[in-house]
Formats: sequence, C-alpha cells, structure tokens
Amino acid sequence: AKNCGKNNAKLYSSSLTMQIMSHVKLEVGLRKALKNEELYLLYQPQIDVRTGDIVGVEALVRWRHPERGIISPTEFIPLAEETGLIVPIGEWVLRTACKQAMAWQRVAKRSLRMAVNLSAKQFKDENLTQIVVSALHDTGLDPRLLELELTEGTLMDDARATMATLEQLRGIGVHLSIDDFGTGYSSMNYLKRFDVRALKIDKSFISGLPQDSENAAITRAIIAMAHGLKMVVVAEGVETDAQLGLLQEYGCDLVQGFYLGHPSPHEAITQMLLQPCAE
Ligand code: C2E
Ligand code: CA
Ligand code: CA
Ligand code: CA
Repeated sequence: AKNCGKNNAKLYSSSLTMQIMSHVKLEVGLRKALKNEELYLLYQPQIDVRTGDIVGVEALVRWRHPERGIISPTEFIPLAEETGLIVPIGEWVLRTACKQAMAWQRVAKRSLRMAVNLSAKQFKDENLTQIVVSALHDTGLDPRLLELELTEGTLMDDARATMATLEQLRGIGVHLSIDDFGTGYSSMNYLKRFDVRALKIDKSFISGLPQDSENAAITRAIIAMAHGLKMVVVAEGVETDAQLGLLQEYGCDLVQGFYLGHPSPHEAITQMLLQPCAE
C-alpha cells in the first residue's frame, strides 16, 4: 500500500496530469455552479463622451468557486463553450441582466441600455431567439434596451446561418454590437449588410494611446468608418484621462474602461444612477 501511494504521488505530480485533473474538477464544479448560485454578474458603465452620462452597462459574469475563490470568465467561459454549458449559463446571464435593467428603470426612473455578451455557441443555438424572447417577455424589458455583443469570429463563421439569425434577432427589436472589433476578420461587405448598431474598438488599440501613433490611426479610422456606416462607436479599455481626451477629439461616442468605472456589483451602479449629476 505504501508503494502504491508513492506511485500515485509521482503520477499526480506530472504537470499535464495535474492540468487534466484540475480541468475535469473545474468542469464538474461548473455543472453545479448554476444550481448552487455561485455565478453572479458585475456591471461596467458605458459613458456618453459628450455628456458624461452613464447610458448603459455591460454585464460581465463571475464565478465564486467554493474552494478556489473568484474565477475569471476568461478561465471558465472557454470551458463552458467546450462543454455546452454556455447555453444554460448564457440564458441565466441574459435573464439576470434583463431583470436588473428593469430594476434600475424602477429605482432610477431612467432607461439604461444593457449589453450582454453572446458566445459563438450561443449564437448557433437554434433556441437562441426563443431564449431572448422569453427573457424579455418574463422581465418586461424593452427589446431596444438590450444589446447583444458578438465577436467578428462569431459573425463571419457561416454567412447564411448568421444572416438568418441576425434577421430573427432584428425581428425581436434587440440591438447588436461587434465586440473586440479589429482583432478578428471582418469583411467590410458584411459590415455593410449586417444591421449592427455599434462597433466596440478592442482595448488592445486603446491601451497604447495617445503615444502609439499606429493605434491612434487605426482608432481614428474605425471611428470614421463606423460613422460613415451610421454606427455608434464604443471604445473599451479606457484607462487614462489622456485616452479619454483623444477619443473625445476623434468623435468617439461611448467609452468604457477602468478610468470611467470598473465592473461593479449592481448596488454600486444604483448609487451612480442616483447621484444628482455625474461629471
Ligand atoms: P469582453 O467582452 O471584451 O469584456 C471586457 C473585458 O475587459 C472585461 O473582462 C472587463 O473587466 C475588462 N476591462 C474593462 N475595462 C478595462 C480597462 O480599462 N482595462 C483593461 N485592461 N480591461 C478592462 P472580464 O470581465 O474578465 O471578461 C473577459 C471576457 O469574458 C469578456 O471580454 C467576454 O469575452 C467574456 N465574458 C464575460 N462575461 C461573459 C458572459 O456573460 N457571457 C459570455 N459569453 N462571455 C462573457
Ligand atoms: Ca463584451
Ligand atoms: Ca471586448
Ligand atoms: Ca474580449
């Protein structure tokens, strides 16, 4: 028995085995996370550059793991996609976010746009439209206040299926935006055909501003193109006053980032909304 234990110790110290073990453990945990109410949402403000008002929020999911503490979505969303768990998790995110948007409408007496991330797997799920319709119906949220964030990769994958799904979503009246814009492959032709409300410039372009002249040129070009196509532009990852200043100068519409507000619990957003006047 002693020897056996020794061998096991050897086996488990191999880092690949450790990785596989922790992956499997995480997956088992993720299956229970929804039922055990371990997932929660943070909300990051989206600010109108001209007025300084908070006009919307993006919902960002977190997992409070009973042993490991808080786990980032960059770690568990890929796992959720792999296992298909993203569909029930995504539905929970959508419902929770819509419910919260309604709650803010009641307390703050103003309409905030709610942005929710959709992964490729959710977008391809044949029940997506039904899931969105029932979340809106059950919470009473105006569809025009819901914005679904999709990445370029999700949209470009299968043109015909994408068009059909976008048509259905447009039929419901929800808005769409392209997340992480500039990091994937977008065809300009599709940009023209897709009925997308907003482009979100990826934070990798914003992070070097204002010094990085190449990123500045790209940012300015994306803003000009989006405006030419009658789209709204959101800059994400805004961390400094200098970045905000430059984006203002370029005519960017909305900004999101640590400088304007970290992803925060709903109570903190309520506080922001109830403050007499931002700015
Ligand atoms: P994303 O959609 O691009 O979300 C923006 C990420 O940038 C968030 O990371 C946010 O916390 C972070 N961020 C915000 N402001 C700043 C800033 O000023 N500087 C920097 N460096 N980062 C900033 P987070 O919350 O860790 O989320 C990571 C990714 O996980 C998201 O990227 C999104 O792709 C995914 N994700 C998060 N929540 C959900 C969800 O409910 N469903 C799905 N499908 N994916 C989600
Ligand atoms: Ca996003
Ligand atoms: Ca993004
Ligand atoms: Ca991202």
